[in-house]
Amino acid sequence: MLGPSLQTPELLKLVFKVVKYWGIKEIRVTGGEPTLREDWLEIIAALSTLPLKKLAITSNGFFLEKELVTLKKFNCNHINISLDGLQADKFFKITAMDSAPVLSCIRRAKELGFVVKVNTVLLAGINVGINDNGDEDEIDDFIEWGAKNQIELRFLELIEIGAATKIFPTHHFGVEDLLQRIKINWRVEETVYPPTGTAFYLRLRKKRSDDDCDGRVYQVGIIASRSRPFCASCDRVRIDQNGIYRSCLMEKKGIYLPSLSERELSQLIVKKKKVNVGNDNLESNHMYEIGG
Ligand code: SF4
Repeated sequence: MLGPSLQTPELLKLVFKVVKYWGIKEIRVTGGEPTLREDWLEIIAALSTLPLKKLAITSNGFFLEKELVTLKKFNCNHINISLDGLQADKFFKITAMDSAPVLSCIRRAKELGFVVKVNTVLLAGINVGINDNGDEDEIDDFIEWGAKNQIELRFLELIEIGAATKIFPTHHFGVEDLLQRIKINWRVEETVYPPTGTAFYLRLRKKRSDDDCDGRVYQVGIIASRSRPFCASCDRVRIDQNGIYRSCLMEKKGIYLPSLSERELSQLIVKKKKVNVGNDNLESNHMYEIGG
């Protein structure tokens, strides 16, 4: 820790200042898992009073459904949910949890009009490629599931950070391998990264034979943090629950904002360091502390 931990009112006061000084227009509440914090809805309620263009949350979706109506009330309209397996047994193998509440939460969020994105982290030999048991992956099923449910689905490369540094060498699945995998059954057209976006998109048509395709166009997003880093256009910064600021997920040590004077805080603005992925040992940077 770089300084004493913060109580919620102190944290909110800091966030309010930062929004004002730095001209922040979008906030995503993430984690770890935000819904595990007892007062997370109070934090959302407070953030909803800020002049933001977008208030968003990233969640594992296990405990979110019952609070969706409240989130709507606070104009937190954008939800990203993790879903690393479609079949219950595959999901359980990865998370040791039941997928039913997550799928139900995704359905309900759509019904309530949230902008829902579903993130699937690719894990070689687990949910992509042939696994140890010789089972096939769910890549095609995911693409069809996203289209059928009108959900923006994104495949994410594993990032070499925190606990994932240990499994990275065996389970990282790069974008070129993914494209090869998708091209078995789909005709693929790639788009480029939007100006400050993290995902590029594939427009897909399902092959019926080598010459013939389903007329329907499917779409899936790819977040290829390692194979095709988007650091040059990254405009995101992070503040953790203790007021530590990082201009990049990969920065080892952040800045403890409460120790800055008003002047220093207002002038810190967003000197973003470009810390490219994959260039350091980041075992001690934990996504659940920094925010994914
Ligand atoms: S590594 Fe840092 S600069 Fe690059 S995309 Fe991630 S947070 Fe942004």
